[in-house]
Amino acid sequence: MHHVHEETDGFRILPDGTRPRRATSSGAASFSGWSGRPWRSGRSPARIDGGACPSALRAEEALPPAFWGTPSGLACLDAVVSDVWATGYGHHITRLMVLSNLATLLGISPREITDWFWVAYTDAYDWVVEPNVLGMGTFALGDLFTTKPYVSGAAYIDRMSDYCQACRFSPKKDCPITSLYWAFLDRNESLLGENPRLSMPMRSLARRGERRKHDRRVHDWVQRSLAKGSSLRPEDRPPDGH
Ligand code: SF4
Repeated sequence: MHHVHEETDGFRILPDGTRPRRATSSGAASFSGWSGRPWRSGRSPARIDGGACPSALRAEEALPPAFWGTPSGLACLDAVVSDVWATGYGHHITRLMVLSNLATLLGISPREITDWFWVAYTDAYDWVVEPNVLGMGTFALGDLFTTKPYVSGAAYIDRMSDYCQACRFSPKKDCPITSLYWAFLDRNESLLGENPRLSMPMRSLARRGERRKHDRRVHDWVQRSLAKGSSLRPEDRPPDGH
């Protein structure tokens, strides 16, 4: 991690010679969308290098208020976010399995979620946060670090944690994260369809047939609701049916 970060000047110059766009703002991770006030008062410096903005999957959504503490209705996300704001820390797996996973599934800008990690964690260091979130967590650097995006549906979260026991959604029946997972594969089929490590999920995606439309509807519902700070409820979930 450290070596690649150093050699690429924090991913400002990638090994193939491309130079991702650089952020020119202070990297507030949509703080003002949640709080209604600017990240900092006073004048900003005229020139800011806010870090590289690679996005191999062309994700560019804003970070929803749920990451700043507005309840999302997803027990896993709300518990992890609450713990992070209480302690400034979180286990590696919750960073990947819940926070980065959700951000990737929702198509959040990799720069935004990386900036959020900068703000939220007490152990944030340049060479740790940038490679871990841009490289491993969000697949923003393509296969420079990992061979496939680190994404999962509810079954994996249920198997690896006890968050689902406190959730209004059921990981086996109506958890929207599973629909987000399929909608993610559907949306990125042209970019990820040839990835050999995704051949099995892509075959399963093809077998979903008309259910893919429903996955997209659930994705749109989750994204719209979280963007305006609403909490998700099972009774509001788009009904099954093609
Ligand atoms: S049911 Fe889904 S949203 Fe709820 S805690 Fe489990 S994985 Fe998270």
